[in-house]
Amino acid sequence: MLTVQGLSAGYDTADVLHSVDITARSGELTVILGANGSGKTTLFRTISGLVRPREGDIEFDGRRLPGLPADRIVKAGLAHCPEGRHLFAKMPVEKNLVLGGYVRRRDRARLRELLEQVYELFPMLHEKRQQPAGTLSGGQQQMVAIGRALMSDPALLILDEPSMGLAPLVTEQVLEAVAQINRNGIAVLLAEQNAQAALRIAHRGFVLAEGRVVLSGDAADLLRDPTVREAYLGV
Ligand code: ATP
Repeated sequence: MLTVQGLSAGYDTADVLHSVDITARSGELTVILGANGSGKTTLFRTISGLVRPREGDIEFDGRRLPGLPADRIVKAGLAHCPEGRHLFAKMPVEKNLVLGGYVRRRDRARLRELLEQVYELFPMLHEKRQQPAGTLSGGQQQMVAIGRALMSDPALLILDEPSMGLAPLVTEQVLEAVAQINRNGIAVLLAEQNAQAALRIAHRGFVLAEGRVVLSGDAADLLRDPTVREAYLGV
């Protein structure tokens, strides 16, 4: 479904990704592990059209993504829920969600369905739908950010560290929701600091270090891998 091949990318002042190859398969949950600064966010921003690749290719459902504007990439079925949530704090929860459906705005019936699905996944958001998003707890705000991405009706959802800054119990709830989204048939590409919890819900994983893929495989194998256990699971 998503194939990233020989991808190099970065910023004016920094080369970040070096010849990265990753794939995310239809219906699967793929996790990207890596220390702070290893390039996970840059990888996601490059896939979703916010950073230009220097070299390499990105293909999604048979379509080449480099050069496409970010909104066309969303329309093609790839949603990106960024690190740090970026909600409109003063706007009601529901308005934040509906904004996520902007690329589908012509299909009102589908938008209503999508909103119902988000409320089914996160009943708490239905209760708080009229409240300004900024008044919600950190975990609830993360649910709004995920729900907003789901409103674009993606086939692949990219989630950049959804548990950032959340307490362990809340992290567990958020990752359980991510697993549920995947069980509902949406492929997920997830960056996560909680390697063990992420590998438990994932099918496959890739480990990034200094902008290169240093390890990849089935999640169950990565959970047993001595390097992963030492570097990311603290074993
Ligand atoms: P984190 O877990 O901290 O988000 P990450 O694995 O997502 O880390 P990136 O955010 O992709 O890593 O950062 C990779 C490198 O790129 C870091 O050295 C960072 O300082 C640098 N970097 C990130 N954003 C920019 C930018 N806008 N301009 C220049 N350098 C940047």
